Parts: sequence; C-alpha cells; structure tokens
Amino acid sequence: MNNARLFIISAPSGCGKGTLIGELRKEFDFFLSVSCTTRAPRIGEVDKVNYNFIDEQLFNKMIEQDGFLEHACFSGNHYGTPKAPVEENLAAGRDVLLEIEPQGAFQVKAKRPDAVMLFILPPSMASLERRLNRRAQTSGETPEQISKRLATARADIERAYEYDYVMINGDLEKAVADMKNIIISAKEPEGAKAFLAENMKERIDEVLNNAQTGSDTDTEKQ
Ligand code: 5GP
Repeated sequence: MNNARLFIISAPSGCGKGTLIGELRKEFDFFLSVSCTTRAPRIGEVDKVNYNFIDEQLFNKMIEQDGFLEHACFSGNHYGTPKAPVEENLAAGRDVLLEIEPQGAFQVKAKRPDAVMLFILPPSMASLERRLNRRAQTSGETPEQISKRLATARADIERAYEYDYVMINGDLEKAVADMKNIIISAKEPEGAKAFLAENMKERIDEVLNNAQTGSDTDTEKQ
C-alpha cells in the first residue's frame, strides 16, 4: 500500500526551519521540493539546490503550462512549487516535504486535503526579533527590512490556527524530537487503517467460524 504523505511546513523567516529540516533528513527519507523563485540568490545559495532561480517570464510560462502545484507572491517576489516532482515522488511511495508560506500552503491543502500542515512558531516575537537582528549582522539587512520581516511574520503566525499541527522551535533538540513525533503520528493513522473494525470483518468471521468448527490455525506463542 502506498501511504506516502505530503507534508507542508511553514515558519516565519528566522525560525530555524532550515536547521530543523536538515536534522530531520538525517533520519527520514523524504523528497524535499525545490521551489522556483524570481528573487535573486543570496550569498551561498546554489541554483537548483536551494531554489530554481528563474526570471518572471519563465515563471509566467510555468503558470500558463499549469506547472505549479501552488504559487504565491511573497515580499514582492514570486515563489512556486513545481508540480511534477511532487506527484512523481508521492506516486513512488516517498514522502514529500514542502517548505512554503501560508498562502501557498492553503492552496495545496485545498487540492490535496490529505496533506499534513505543520506550522513552526518562534518562542516569542521578541526572540524572533533577536534572531533576525543577529542574522542581519552578516546579511546586512537594514532595521526597516527587519521591521518588514517582523510584520510579515506576525501575519503568517495569525494563520497558524488553521494548520493541523503547531510546534515551537526554542530548544533545537526538543524541536527535532517534536517534529519527528508529529511526522510519525501523521503517518500512523494510515497504518492503523488496516485494523479498523470494518476492514477486519473477514478476520472476525474467520475466528468465529474456526471456533464453531473447532479448527485451530493460530500461531499463538504461549
Ligand atoms: P526566502 O525568500 O526567505 O527563501 O523565502 C520566503 C518565504 O517563501 C518563506 O516563507 C518560504 O517558506 C516561502 N517559500 C519558499 N518556496 C516557496 C514556494 O514554492 N511557494 C510558496 N508559496 N512559498 C515559498
């Protein structure tokens, strides 16, 4: 049975989502979708690894060709999830993870209600601000840009109520453990389906019939 799941993870920038996903990849085998974006690469980012960096013309062409599972405009740039790799991996039985913002996340959920939505919260807005300020020391972001990020983060966090799961990334070790638990429990209901009473009717009949005929085919170990 193919019980591959589609996981959608959203978190405001500065929440440490990248580190968490990196830790998760050490233990779970999943396909991490590489998005397309019209924004310029940041220092250290690699084309086709972090994103497919494309121009607006190609982005629009992909929309016309129905090449995106979802797409959205975020902070003045376009972002989209290429549809084919997601569908191919799910069909092959491999879990897929999308790291996208809420507008896109809800588009995916509307198309695939079985997708599992997870929101990662910072411990507080103050701690998010501290993390963004720390990061600005190397990225060179201005205080105005940081204020804008904080406003966007607040708007994103307001949508966290609508996600399936919400966790906090304060302590990394605890956050990794929480994320693993969420992934395992999200996959479990599928596994438990085989044990639903309605799917076990034949086995119940079998046991009852065996009792009547006195035949004993069990393999119970005492
Ligand atoms: P950044 O530019 O900082 O890498 O990403 C900005 C935001 O865009 C993040 O919240 C990130 O999760 C989101 N994002 C990245 N790829 C996609 C995508 O394919 N679709 C959507 N809707 N959001 C994306």
